[in-house]
Amino acid sequence: MKIGVLALQGDFREHLVAAKSAGHAALTVRRPEELAEVDALILPGGESTTIAHLANTFNLMQPIRDRIKSGMPVYGSCAGMILLADRIIDGSDGQETFGGIDMTVRRNAFGRQVDSFESDLDFQGVNLHAVFIRAPWVEEVGATVEVLASVKTARGSHAVAVRQGRLLATSFHPELTGDLRVHRYFFDQVCTGAIK
Ligand code: GLN
Repeated sequence: MKIGVLALQGDFREHLVAAKSAGHAALTVRRPEELAEVDALILPGGESTTIAHLANTFNLMQPIRDRIKSGMPVYGSCAGMILLADRIIDGSDGQETFGGIDMTVRRNAFGRQVDSFESDLDFQGVNLHAVFIRAPWVEEVGATVEVLASVKTARGSHAVAVRQGRLLATSFHPELTGDLRVHRYFFDQVCTGAIK
């Protein structure tokens, strides 16, 4: 597959490496013509407000929304998860997303004390070491959204990986650990799944 990685801001280089290591062609996406070339898209970690702002500047906001609506597979990590959310809490004023997943995501949810942390978690029966950096969590999901992984805090259990059809989002950054299992799950299972 030709995997595009939105390369406006954030850790897109690590996702390009992950896609190539998993045996796919990986291309940077900064222009609508480049988006049109790819079979699937990865939204990297970074700063969701900046990425949304740049997506508008680079005339990618509507083309990405249109491709999501027509079934393009998309994986978003961290800021990318926020960008895939239909609804956000604690966004900046007027913060836009591409949307697509029927969920409410809370930005910077883990708060100051655990700004960044690492945790082992169960992702579909697989034990993963997950890296969280000023991460969001998923506050609420619609009926068609599957929760794939959660972490517990003093405030309860919080979804940190979700899937809706061909859309996948994680609060954490598998691109930073060299563990390709989440990327492979995206390429092998999510990209070939039904649209929901
Ligand atoms: N806190 C960032 C945001 O709101 C996300 C952090 C990350 O991607 N590591 O966009």
